[in-house]
Amino acid sequence: MNTPLPNVSHSSAHLPRRAEFLPFSPPSISEEEVEAVVETLRSEWITTGPKTRQFEEEFAAYTGAPGCLAVNSCTGALHVALAALGIGPGDEVITTPMTFICSANVVEHVGATPVLADIEPDTLCIDPARVAEKITPRTRALMPVHYAGHPCDMRPLLDLAKAHGLHVIEDAAHALPAAYDGQRIGTLGTLTAFSFYATKNLTTAEGGMLTGAPELVQQARLWSLHGMNRDAWKRYSAEGSWYYEVVLPGFKYNMTDIAAAIGLVQLRRLEMFQARRRDIVATYNAAFSPLDALETPTQRANVEHGWHLYVLRLNLDRLTIDRARFIEELKARNIGSSVHFIPVHLHPYYRERYGWQAGDYPVAVGEYRRTISLPLHPRLSDQDVSDVIDAVTAIVKQFRR
Ligand SMILES: *Cc1c(COP(=O)(O)O)cnc(C)c1O
Repeated sequence: MNTPLPNVSHSSAHLPRRAEFLPFSPPSISEEEVEAVVETLRSEWITTGPKTRQFEEEFAAYTGAPGCLAVNSCTGALHVALAALGIGPGDEVITTPMTFICSANVVEHVGATPVLADIEPDTLCIDPARVAEKITPRTRALMPVHYAGHPCDMRPLLDLAKAHGLHVIEDAAHALPAAYDGQRIGTLGTLTAFSFYATKNLTTAEGGMLTGAPELVQQARLWSLHGMNRDAWKRYSAEGSWYYEVVLPGFKYNMTDIAAAIGLVQLRRLEMFQARRRDIVATYNAAFSPLDALETPTQRANVEHGWHLYVLRLNLDRLTIDRARFIEELKARNIGSSVHFIPVHLHPYYRERYGWQAGDYPVAVGEYRRTISLPLHPRLSDQDVSDVIDAVTAIVKQFRR
């Protein structure tokens, strides 16, 4: 005899939910990238070589940067930027609590001290007024992060740097392409670091680019490859020789030609990617701005936004649930999401090393508690976008206070 199965009801069983999970940020890879990789693998050169050089040249042309160095991550780019500028023990670097942890980690790597300055409540970028308060005789550099792709308020930051003789190292992991007052990110500060990590606007799986003045970029190039004073890849080519000299104890951050081959194709597709990102942002904004439980992202009039992330903010006083539960509810409806970022000073290493308290950076902590990053990438179909909107709207309705 067959006993009928008990009628188990899970709370999410009755939810209108899409059939398949919508991932937060998958890479947009076409057959073109696949072919470029295969072609590189079949060529005579697979690590740093002609493709990497070409990627640097095309990236320079695209951003207008005077010099470019391709590396294997944005973290590596930031690290060699600090090394090339001679920043080390006893020096302070001012950055934002609202960033991925590597912005602070690289300062530790060179033995310098990260100093945090709180963020602006609208853009969530570092606040120039807070930066001014943190400058001491030991400050050597500012490290602004163009959060979500919205450029930091660069004018006052560059003015402060000039007045105090500081370098500006921009973390532009989210800001390809973006512009401030009509000037492309990558052309403003002393050095600028981009990321080509798998989730970023342009990906090489892992990768990064440092831009800046050619002499400085050349110094960073030395630091990025063992401190060898000539192009290592040329050593093994027909015109190369076996001789090289090591002039400083460099790292190993070079980009492979396999990665550069992906990057070259992605760079040609980037404008199309960005157009799709802007469309999706407009659709999200139109759907979410009428809802008083939600706050849509800011875009100031003098910037071109990179739209790496769509960061929605919850007005928690209008909801009966917190951000963590909101994410669970999205997941129950098969929608992936994320949080950017857990502020630097809340991580145990930094909390313990510098005695930082949550309340030391009240804007960052307050905003962190109510931010959710929704899927924003060129692979989203119109149906996907409306599924995200339906899910968010349903949750807001169900849990409205
Ligand atoms: C992704 C990211 C990085 C690190 O990039 P990698 O290429 O993975 O090293 C740095 N800063 C921010 C703000 C990021 O989001």
